[in-house]
Amino acid sequence: MPEGVMKAWLESSHLSGANTAYIEELYESYLDNSQSVSEEWRQIFDNLPKIEGADVEYRHSEIREEFRELAKQNQKTVVVSGGSDAKQVKVLQLINAYRFRGHQNASIDPLDLWKRDQVRDLQLSHHDLSENDFDREFNVGSFASGQEQMKLGDLYKALRNTYCGSIGAEYMHMTSTEEKRWLQQRLESVQSKAQLTTAEKEELLKGLIAADGLEKYLGAKFPGAKRFSLEGGDSLIPMLKELITRAGAHGTKEVVMGMAHRGRLNVLVNVMGKNPSKLFDEFAGKHDDLVGSGDVKYHMGYSSDFVTPGGNVHLALAFNPSHLEIVNPVVMGSVRARLDRRNCNAGDLVLPITIHGDSAIAGQGVVQETFNMSQARAFKVGGSIRIVVNNQVGFTTSKPEDTRSGEYCTEIAKMVQAPIFHVNGDDPEAVVLATQIALDFRNKFKRDVVIDLVCYRRHGHNEADEPNATQPLMYQKIKKHPTPREMYAAKLDQEGSIRLDKSKELAEYYRKLLDEGQCTVEQWRPMTEHSVDWSPFLGHEWDDAYDGEMSLDKLKTLADSIANFPAELKVQSRVKKIYDDRKKMASGEKLLDWGFAENLAYAAIVDDGKRVRITGQDAGRGTFFHRHAVLHNQKDASTYLPLQNIREGQGPFDVHDSVLSEVSVLAFEYGYTTAEPNGLTIWEAQFGDFANCAQVVFDQFISSGEQKWGRLCGLTMLLPHGYEGQGPEHSSARLERFLQLCADHNMQVCIPSTPAQVFNMLRRQVVRPMRRPLVVMSPKSLLRHPLAVSSLEELASGVYHNVIGEIDEDIKAENVERVVFCSGKVYYELLDQRRKNEQKNVAIIRVEQLYPFPEKELAAELEQYSHVKQFVWCQEEPQNQGAWYCSQHHFRQAIPDGTYLTYAGRKASAAPAVGYMSVHVKEQQALVTDALNVE
Ligand code: AMP
Repeated sequence: MPEGVMKAWLESSHLSGANTAYIEELYESYLDNSQSVSEEWRQIFDNLPKIEGADVEYRHSEIREEFRELAKQNQKTVVVSGGSDAKQVKVLQLINAYRFRGHQNASIDPLDLWKRDQVRDLQLSHHDLSENDFDREFNVGSFASGQEQMKLGDLYKALRNTYCGSIGAEYMHMTSTEEKRWLQQRLESVQSKAQLTTAEKEELLKGLIAADGLEKYLGAKFPGAKRFSLEGGDSLIPMLKELITRAGAHGTKEVVMGMAHRGRLNVLVNVMGKNPSKLFDEFAGKHDDLVGSGDVKYHMGYSSDFVTPGGNVHLALAFNPSHLEIVNPVVMGSVRARLDRRNCNAGDLVLPITIHGDSAIAGQGVVQETFNMSQARAFKVGGSIRIVVNNQVGFTTSKPEDTRSGEYCTEIAKMVQAPIFHVNGDDPEAVVLATQIALDFRNKFKRDVVIDLVCYRRHGHNEADEPNATQPLMYQKIKKHPTPREMYAAKLDQEGSIRLDKSKELAEYYRKLLDEGQCTVEQWRPMTEHSVDWSPFLGHEWDDAYDGEMSLDKLKTLADSIANFPAELKVQSRVKKIYDDRKKMASGEKLLDWGFAENLAYAAIVDDGKRVRITGQDAGRGTFFHRHAVLHNQKDASTYLPLQNIREGQGPFDVHDSVLSEVSVLAFEYGYTTAEPNGLTIWEAQFGDFANCAQVVFDQFISSGEQKWGRLCGLTMLLPHGYEGQGPEHSSARLERFLQLCADHNMQVCIPSTPAQVFNMLRRQVVRPMRRPLVVMSPKSLLRHPLAVSSLEELASGVYHNVIGEIDEDIKAENVERVVFCSGKVYYELLDQRRKNEQKNVAIIRVEQLYPFPEKELAAELEQYSHVKQFVWCQEEPQNQGAWYCSQHHFRQAIPDGTYLTYAGRKASAAPAVGYMSVHVKEQQALVTDALNVE
């Protein structure tokens, strides 16, 4: 250190509390403007060791924090002389360096194959310290050792134990000092060593015995069968059991888990308590009488109860498809539904746990989306525990350098400042400690936390795979590597807490349970009475009779209550006009438009005490300015929701503008709806075509979840659709894709064309006990079409017409020569053109539900047209799109023998719509003319 600098230190005397405050002040000024402090001080601050990889602002904030901490502790006087004061600062820097970068030298890889650079900041010499200073006492600032001063030798050892042992704790990217201090306290006070009783160690050992025992048993009994073995990541089982037990002890009532294939069978048997004999039957190809198509065993979900010191905790493992990671938002949605049901905003009562693969967490965008949702109002669940089973192979044969660009697979978690614990899967006690801290962090701060369980994969991708073909060195090492169970049993024997004989006995007992086909989880309990009863919703069909009629008086009262808002609320002028009109509609002075009828449907549902939940990118206002369920006070930006103010004791009305995502929001709402059958849950796409970003959710959950897994889902999806010249991307919700997914009455596809229809369609979805997805091609221009209006009486009828026949009294059946079938807004264009043509020989029939196809209703409607020979399907979409290919067989079946069905619509096209308004108008006119053109 230059002489002048040393002099400055000497002149400032010792680092007493007062002096640290003074130094902090100087440091603040230096940060603002380095020229504001003397040359000597500038040199000192310039020379403070840099912590590579740490953001400059974090680095400075940490140093400031240290000074502040010291200043607070006035009594802490370190009586050291001369140059030691400089060393004192360096010691604080050393502590800081370990907190920032200790994880980079932590011993987290069980195979010790991960070659990592030495981190200079972690070396004493980088801080001008050496072993010669080991006997000197220094103030340790905020280092949570319980001592104010420590010998450097002891401190150094404590730092290495805490930050470079089996837990690599990454948390200094977080900005909250409170959260960082809390984590430091938890880690440093025990030097990252779990404090376990012998009984707890035995429990841990039992978890490893179970994990290992099941895989060996399955391997021997069903050699070569795919089971996606957990072996190598065995610690996952005691980790999950610890999480559930501890959560239960702190009052959690339900745990919902999502995971991909690896280790899933092990979790089902050794955590969820699935009877192993049932699993063996599945391996042997036996199954219950099939309901639907069924699914492979490593996709199956499960439900059970698990006893904990705080009472029973209900466990639900979500069913999942092969698309890794998509189950995460589904789990979060399910948790949110359960929290809402329990009126628990904070999230304490239900815990989400998601289990990820190392390549998937880094590679799949839906992970980022769920992190982004984790604190958003519509989607928060009080934080989730995210576990990575990091077997360092990624998927199938991949290496980390091919699957990610970041240092760790967990980098994405930093976007929400989640703490990340990288933990060596071969050290089960460290795993337990990381688990406890992670859970406590989640419960205290209600935010996401990540446990990166660094382990290995003992076999290939599946059991028929040969891993040596692609990972020779790793697998040579794995072959010789003892199992976590063997290592832990040997450790416990060595320390004298549990002898090997006892370990052997425990393993034999576990094997006996498997032989006898008995549940292996002591804590397993049969499911007790559940907070939601699904039985009223089972076994219904779409065409079951239902009574949706409402009294007109009731409807008027509801209309009145939602058309009004407090006088002091100043709403924007266009919105005021809409509400003024609604008042007239409520009084019967005006016919109802779409927006009001839709709001009225929600009013009727919440008035019945049921919940309505709507999310979408502009859900509160409506993309096309029609809903205005949320009123924004122009005076102070406060909000008012008429639908939340209908009456005391009404059902909740939740409307949320969503994060800008389709896939994770739709998956979340699917998860919500599969956990909550009471009420109406809606996802609205901003434009229908954006729904294709969520295609995986439609394919793998919404259209097939009931058939594969027997899980009902009454989710409603509003997908704006209609050809209005807005170009290829804002015209079509790709109706054809939904129709192509339809079979087995798996979902409903509706295209309502009037306000009364939308009112009754939405109510029907709740009043009728059937819970099946409802896909709606919802309107845009129709929202304000002068003919798209309905009376209160039509709403009150309580009927959704799957088919609407000819309504024009001037069209007499006997004069009709041609029948045009259509759906959606083109109806109004056909009507308009027919009126202009003064045609009386064409009847127009609207099919308002394309699936399940209303055969009977259409047949009844067609009875009067038995003499007609010309039947036409008219659509706006190109011929290869829309309903033509998927639905024409229904129409052909409905029309009389000897007649024919033709097509009037756009010609086949690769793009959904043209980009030029003039071309659009021409095409639209042509298809309408074509449809009405009686031959
Ligand atoms: P869970 O709370 O998800 O563990 O579900 C508990 C039980 O409720 C399950 O075992 C099923 O019997 C039933 N259940 C849950 N969700 C659904 C659903 N979406 N459809 C039908 N039954 C369900």
